[in-house]
Amino acid sequence: MAQLFFKYGAMNSGKSIEILKVANNYEEQNKSVLIFTSGIDTRDEVGYVSSRIGLRRKAIPIFEGTNILQYVKDQEPTPHCVLIDEVQFLNKEHVLQLAEIVDTFDIPVMGFGLKNDFQNELFEGSRYMLIYADKIEEMKTICWFCARKATMNLRVDGSGKPVYTGDQIQIGGNDSYYPVCRRCHSNPPL
Ligand SMILES: [Zn+2]
Repeated sequence: MAQLFFKYGAMNSGKSIEILKVANNYEEQNKSVLIFTSGIDTRDEVGYVSSRIGLRRKAIPIFEGTNILQYVKDQEPTPHCVLIDEVQFLNKEHVLQLAEIVDTFDIPVMGFGLKNDFQNELFEGSRYMLIYADKIEEMKTICWFCARKATMNLRVDGSGKPVYTGDQIQIGGNDSYYPVCRRCHSNPPL
């Protein structure tokens, strides 16, 4: 039986490169994959999976009203696997569609994304992936400032100061994010 996977990790934990790797593995065996990403514009170009090491490829952007289930239904033949980048930005309805894709077509669906936002609240997509996924896997990376595991994301403003309030998703702006451990999140050496 195919499963719904939620692979989460802090910033820079290699989520996008993993998507590109999984897609490549399928395609090497002549199996087709559908790659989606959130259509929310957070500086990266919309409609691409971009990895930090420079590799990138086109992906289908998911907007508020996108029906992912219908999109997969319309494919002929049915893809062998569905991959989603930035799954944290999806809404509950999207996540239910992902579960239905797995259950209807018996193909694996893998969602990759952040678990918690910079204020340590769950993103909507992540909340429902935690509830609906068959398999939940942490992608590990190290804290930007020390040697502990990074489990949180620190928002830093344009002048290098940590930020703890504001909108969950920033469109534009010049804030940046660092993968950090819990201690460095509340007390970053900045
Ligand atoms: Zn740390």
